[in-house]
Amino acid sequence: MTGPTVSSAPDATTAKRLIAHGDAATNGAVGTRQWQPVEWKLSAGVQVGPAVNAATQRLEEAGITTARLDAQVILAHVLGVGRSWLFAHYEHELAPAHAECYMELIVRRIEREPVAYLVRHKEFYGIDLYVDPRVLIPRPETEMLVDQVLTEAAVRAPQPLTIADVGTGSGAIALAVASNVPNAQVYAIDLSLNALAVAQHNMERHSLHDRVHLLHGDLLTVLPVHVDVVVANLPYVNTSDFATLDADVRNYEPSSALVAGPQGIDVIERLIPQLPSSLNPGGVAILEIAYDQGELVMALVEKLLPQTTQLELHRDYHGRDRMVSFQL
Ligand code: GLN
Repeated sequence: MTGPTVSSAPDATTAKRLIAHGDAATNGAVGTRQWQPVEWKLSAGVQVGPAVNAATQRLEEAGITTARLDAQVILAHVLGVGRSWLFAHYEHELAPAHAECYMELIVRRIEREPVAYLVRHKEFYGIDLYVDPRVLIPRPETEMLVDQVLTEAAVRAPQPLTIADVGTGSGAIALAVASNVPNAQVYAIDLSLNALAVAQHNMERHSLHDRVHLLHGDLLTVLPVHVDVVVANLPYVNTSDFATLDADVRNYEPSSALVAGPQGIDVIERLIPQLPSSLNPGGVAILEIAYDQGELVMALVEKLLPQTTQLELHRDYHGRDRMVSFQL
């Protein structure tokens, strides 16, 4: 594991924070709620097993449904070991510095900071990605878009594939495609320089800089070539749904990567008309959409690009709208 780790954790001697009483939301609306400290301490000389159990119990009390897994993943990160190591070293005594880091990170988890930000990485399509609050944490559902790109690559093989990943964030889709399609050239675009810095770090970590090209700009306007596939996980959450998202997402992940106007389609609506001048003839667009946007986005594509063929709505394993694909 590389990138900033526990050494960057703030001073944790008391592992004390302020959170809004009675609600997990911390950085959001304060309202009239009382603020009270989160305190959680481990006794000196605590062993791995009891430390995980104590953290699990504290996270459960805070209403975190993945308490035990989180407690394990965070401790494994602090100790720089794999999660399975913990099970074989139940009685290993934590060094004071490790115990302090653990307390600090568990308190931050109680405040609803996502585990992926605490441990600074997330696996996506079998690739380990560095992540921090500059980028959206890649979701397993987005792997469906990679599958679709790989299907397109297989149809076109042995022709080389050129793709654009618009709104690349951490670089998840771009890097997953580049590492699975050896002759692919991938243009990874983002409006956020912060996000591109993270994508660059990931690209270098996976030695894919010869086939992944980072571009800073708005949607497809900066693309220097025509591509065979445009794939995009753009912001698509509507403003009222955003208010109902988990505090983990709402208070910590970049809202610029999530929210897109009252219907959630403001950004997708700007992308669609740009597609004809960016795609090769017969090129394909693959867009991630919200759980309830299938009809809306299909109608938008039909309206803005009447020449489209093979317009398809794809649902995820939960049966929810997840992706729209079409050919030009
Ligand atoms: N799937 C994300 C969420 O529900 C949203 C990602 C996006 O807007 N592209 O939190």
